[in-house]
Amino acid sequence: MTMRPLIAGNWKMNLDRAAGTTLARELAGAVASASAFEMVVCPPAPYLLAVAEELAGSPVALGGQDCHTAASGAHTGDVSAPMLSDLGCTYVIVGHSERRADHGETDAVVRAKAEAARAAGLVPIVCVGETEAQRDAGTTLDIVGRQVVDSVPDGLDGATLVVAYEPVWAIGTGRTPTVDDVAAVHAHIRGVLSAKTADAAAVRILYGGSVKSSNAVELLAVANVDGALVGGASLKTADFLAIARSV
Ligand code: PEP
Repeated sequence: MTMRPLIAGNWKMNLDRAAGTTLARELAGAVASASAFEMVVCPPAPYLLAVAEELAGSPVALGGQDCHTAASGAHTGDVSAPMLSDLGCTYVIVGHSERRADHGETDAVVRAKAEAARAAGLVPIVCVGETEAQRDAGTTLDIVGRQVVDSVPDGLDGATLVVAYEPVWAIGTGRTPTVDDVAAVHAHIRGVLSAKTADAAAVRILYGGSVKSSNAVELLAVANVDGALVGGASLKTADFLAIARSV
């Protein structure tokens, strides 16, 4: 790895306030500033403030799971990037496949969200990944490459952009691509990014999809894998720390 890997925990719509704050407190107590990895947790929006209070003074960063394209306005139920920033977030996940599937988010919407995140000073973690049918059809590189072209704003750099490759069929299923497949997709993403930014080599490209402590060492050792986006295994302190320490 050529840069400090990012280990990101996506809690999705899980945990309650007590469990979330306990998890955050335990992570804050366990992660040292000089760690070989950077860690960010992305709790459900209603718990951001309570988790932020637990993380205060620790190197563990806070992220949102989504943001609106607009900074404010008549968008009932939505959360804006400036609001996330106001609560202490430094990252926000955009374009997760569950958002794309459940809320019909297109690449254009995802790109607009990433731009809104940047305008608010947040680092967007832009998610891309193929479905199982697309993989079976042999179109993974085309699909993922197109998503990167259309979802990632131009001109960002290693300090302002993270991309996460998450094969949809690997999320929450216990299945993962082979390390050769992960290497091929991540190399392709790096290549596509080089047309968008002069700093493609410094952009962290995370792998996500059924990362566990038992496969993290292998996955994090793949070329161009600069960290992990972790769902289920980020909900337990020991499991998430074990993944981070695999770095
Ligand atoms: C995710 O949805 O971002 C994810 C990677 O989930 P899991 O680790 O549970 O597969």
